[in-house]
Amino acid sequence: MNGQLQAVPEDWNRAMAIVAHPDDLEYGAASAIARWTRAGRSVAYVMVTDGEAGIDGLHPLEAGPVRQKEQVASAALVGVGDVAFLGHHDGVVEGGLDLRRDIAREVRRFRPEVLVTATFELTYGMGPGQHILSQADHRAVGVAVLDATRDAGNRWIFPELLDEGYAPWDGVRHVYVMGANEQLKAKHRALWAAGDYPAVATDLIPTLGPTLVESSGVRAGHRVLDVAAGSGNAAIPAAATGASVVASDLTPELFGAGRRIAAQRGVAPEWVEADAEALPFADASFDVVLSCVGAMFAPHHQATADELIRVTRPGGTIGTINWTPPGFIGQLFATMKPYAPPPPPGASPAPLWGDEEHVRALFGDRITDIDVQRRTVVMEHNGDPAGFREYWKRNYGPTIAVYKHNATDPDRVAALDRDFLELLTTWNEADTPGRTRYQAEYLLVTARRSLT
Ligand SMILES: [Zn+2]
Repeated sequence: MNGQLQAVPEDWNRAMAIVAHPDDLEYGAASAIARWTRAGRSVAYVMVTDGEAGIDGLHPLEAGPVRQKEQVASAALVGVGDVAFLGHHDGVVEGGLDLRRDIAREVRRFRPEVLVTATFELTYGMGPGQHILSQADHRAVGVAVLDATRDAGNRWIFPELLDEGYAPWDGVRHVYVMGANEQLKAKHRALWAAGDYPAVATDLIPTLGPTLVESSGVRAGHRVLDVAAGSGNAAIPAAATGASVVASDLTPELFGAGRRIAAQRGVAPEWVEADAEALPFADASFDVVLSCVGAMFAPHHQATADELIRVTRPGGTIGTINWTPPGFIGQLFATMKPYAPPPPPGASPAPLWGDEEHVRALFGDRITDIDVQRRTVVMEHNGDPAGFREYWKRNYGPTIAVYKHNATDPDRVAALDRDFLELLTTWNEADTPGRTRYQAEYLLVTARRSLT
């Protein structure tokens, strides 16, 4: 683990990890378990299957005992001596009452306060940008663990367990789910749906999209993709050239505003919900791929860069506008950072996309004709710096999220208010009282995808 995970409470004594297969825990939880057992916690493992169908060249009758033995040995390495195998069939685990009963029995037997299981989502994240289709056993077991946790606490569910001597246990306080990639995405999506990003884009940076479209040479007949398009700051001016445009964003809540703005300009780009790190478009399917202060906020930069290149046709253009670290918006993020929740594992800070070396390294030799320019956009607001601070707090998702994270601590909110106001006061260039004016630096990058 890389130290960027949010710490979980450790004020408990007993944990049980319940997963489908031998080796599932070694993919995501064993290092945490080692830490817990070293600190004196008791941890037990439950394997729903023996993993007997997991080795192509080995018959299940032989593979099962091999994998059991491996699991017992790897459990011992992290201080776990209690390893149970429930004997369900590998690869064809059936969700349902038998599975719930078997898991509830284990929970009642060990009486854990903490449960660990694997994700029950359709996909899981093994690392930056690696979204792998999950396996049916994982989905069945994950959901059954959640259900069995409740079953374990209710004496009237599976009363036969009482006859077997297992009293109800309703002491599970936390269930931790490994590899829950969709939750991270859902969080990001909610972050950008909060407040009014379309207003921020329209009020503060209306010229950025047209600048990017022009610099990237978009013209009629081009097939154009705007990644992390928001309400279409680049997609709409791109469509106005006569290009055929897809506006994609993780947050479809922004599309309503985008459609209204597009309709006012007499254009109709196609709106597609999409994660910049896993774009749902074929290789080489666009002449121009744009992102205007959008893709920079996807947490895994390399995965995003790889996707921008992949969907651009060889010889096609990639154009991005990103806030620079020392510029006004970079500093706005730096101001919020000490108050923000820790970033997810493997995430890089968004303003790094405004660093030329970083961007060159992300694209590597897969591009040619790279052109990099530092420019500024002027943001003006009709109000004093304190009023502008309230504008950000009302409208800008990342700011809203940081304040929400500190909502129960008035001292921290006051400190953030103070730091934020200091930033807005220091950077204000307006001569007239009651008005504010900022120069926000960005990096404009255009490049061609290599032909080979
Ligand atoms: Zn597995």
